[in-house]
Amino acid sequence: DFHPVRRALLSVSDKTGLVDLGKALSARGVELLSTGGSAKTLREAGLDVRDVAEVTGFPEMMDGRVKTLHPMVHGGLLALRDNDAHLAAMETHGIGAIDLLVVNLYPFEETVAKGADYDTCIENIDIGGPAMIRAAAKNHAFVNVVVDVEDYDALLAELEANDGQTSYAFRQGLAQNAYARTAAYDAAVSNWMAGALNLQAPRRRAVAGRLAQTLRYGENPHQEAAFYLDGSDRSGVATARQVQGKELSYNNINDTDAAFELVSEFDPADGPAVAIIKHANPCGVARGATLKEAYQKAFDCDRTSAFGGIIALNMPLDADTAREIVQIFTEVVIAPGASEEAVEVFATKKNLRLLLTEGLPDPQDSAFTTRQVSGGMLVQDKDVGHRDMADLKVVTKNAPTEDQMADLLFAWKVAKHVKSNAIVYVKDGQTVGVGAGQMSRLDSATIAGVKAQRMAEGLELPESLAKGSAVASDAFFPFADGLLEAAANGATCVIQPGGSMRDDEVIKAADEAGLAMVFTGMRHFRH
Ligand code: 5GP
Repeated sequence: DFHPVRRALLSVSDKTGLVDLGKALSARGVELLSTGGSAKTLREAGLDVRDVAEVTGFPEMMDGRVKTLHPMVHGGLLALRDNDAHLAAMETHGIGAIDLLVVNLYPFEETVAKGADYDTCIENIDIGGPAMIRAAAKNHAFVNVVVDVEDYDALLAELEANDGQTSYAFRQGLAQNAYARTAAYDAAVSNWMAGALNLQAPRRRAVAGRLAQTLRYGENPHQEAAFYLDGSDRSGVATARQVQGKELSYNNINDTDAAFELVSEFDPADGPAVAIIKHANPCGVARGATLKEAYQKAFDCDRTSAFGGIIALNMPLDADTAREIVQIFTEVVIAPGASEEAVEVFATKKNLRLLLTEGLPDPQDSAFTTRQVSGGMLVQDKDVGHRDMADLKVVTKNAPTEDQMADLLFAWKVAKHVKSNAIVYVKDGQTVGVGAGQMSRLDSATIAGVKAQRMAEGLELPESLAKGSAVASDAFFPFADGLLEAAANGATCVIQPGGSMRDDEVIKAADEAGLAMVFTGMRHFRH
C-alpha cells in the first residue's frame, strides 16, 4: 500500500510555503515539475525545476488558460501503475509518472469577495487546476494530491515517517479532501453566476462551502463542527473582522448572524437601532435618539435574558454605547464599524468578541438558505419578503394612528426574525414582549404578555408595558383566542398576514375589542 514519491508537479496560485515545500521535496530526491509562476518562485530560491511547458512540448498559452491540459500531464497523473496496458501507453508516448500533485486554485472566491467585475471573475475560474486535482484524486491508489497550504506539513511528515513513501489511507484522505475543494469551487462559481445574472430562481443550486475554520465544537461539546463560507461577500458574521475577544463558537456564529440580519432591517437613515439576541431569538430590539439609548431600550425589554447575549448595531459603535454595553456580560457585539475610543473601551473586556463589518447587508438582497434533514437538504430562497405602509390593508373599523402604524411596522420587522409561532409587542420603537417558538400562537401571545409584565416589574413601573402596545403575529391568527389574549395584555393594534378561514371571526373579535388591525398578505414563518 505504500508508494514512493519520485516526481511532483507543483502549480500553485498561493505561493505561501511553496519554497519550503520544494526544498524539502528536493532534499528527498523528488524531481520537481512546475508551471510558470510557481517554477519562477522555486527557481529564484535556487531549486532545480523542470517547466511543464518543456514536458508537454507546448508553451503556456491563452493567458494561462492552457498550461497543463495535456496527455503528458494527465497521463502521468491517471496511469495505473499496476496495469500493463497503462504502462505500455506511458512507454509508447514517453509519459513520466507524477506521484504528487500540489495545486491550489486561482482565488475565485477571493476575487468575487473583492467585488471584481464580471470578466475578472470569469478569468479567475481555474480550469487546469481542478482537472489535475480530479485526475490525481481519482488515481489516489498511487498518486498524492495536496490542495491546501495547511496540508504541506502533514505531507512532509508522512514522507518522513515512511522513508519517502505514503500510505494508501493517507492518499485516500487527501483525495477525499481534494474533491471537497473542487466541488466547493464549482459551487462558488455557480452561486456567483446566479447572483451576477440576478437569477431569482436558478434551475439548479449548488450547495457547498469553503472551510473557513474548524470550531471547538458544535451546538454541544460532544458535536464536532466547522464554519464554511459560501464565497458571497454579504456583510455579516462570515466576512466580519474580529477585533478582539475569544474565538467564536458555533452558537456565537449562529446567534450573531441572527442579530445582524435583524438589525439590518432598520435603515440607519431612520436612526440608530439595536438588537440583542439569545438562542437565535431577539430578547430586545429598539430604536433610539442615540445608539446608546437604542441599546438601553433594547436591554430594558428583557434584562434577565440579555445577560450573555449577542448585540448587533445598525451603526458604528461609539464610546458612549460601548461604556454602556460593558456594564454586563455580553458574548459578541457586531457593528458596521467602531470609533477608536469605543474599541479602547472594549479592550478592558478581553473575552468580549467585537466583530466589525464594512456595512450592513441589504435585507432585500436575494440569497438562498439550506437546511439539513435526514437524508437530504431543503433549499429555499432567503425570506426577503418585505411590506411597507402601502401594502397594508386596514380590516377593522378603527384604523391605526400614525404612531401605531410605525410601531406595527417595527413589530412586523422583528416578528420576521423570531422563531414561529412569533408574537411581538412593541411600544414607541421598543419591543416590550417577545413570545417565540411556541407550538401554539396563543401560548406565544401569553408568554409575550408575561414578558411585558416582567419588564414593568424590572423597571418598577406600575403597569405592563404591553398596555397600549402594537402587536405583530408572524402568521395569521387561526382563531380569535390569540388575538384576544394580546388584547387582554393591553395591545391596541395588530399586524398579521390574514388569510385564515376564520378571518371574519378574528376581525369581528378585533372590532369588539376596539382594536385597529392591518393585514400584510404575507407571512414570515421562521423555523
Ligand atoms: P503559476 O503561478 O504556476 O503560473 O500558475 C499556477 C496556477 O495555475 C494554479 O492555480 C493552477 O491551478 C493553475 N493552472 C495550472 N494549469 C492550468 C491550466 O491548464 N489552465 C488554467 N486555467 N489554470 C491552470
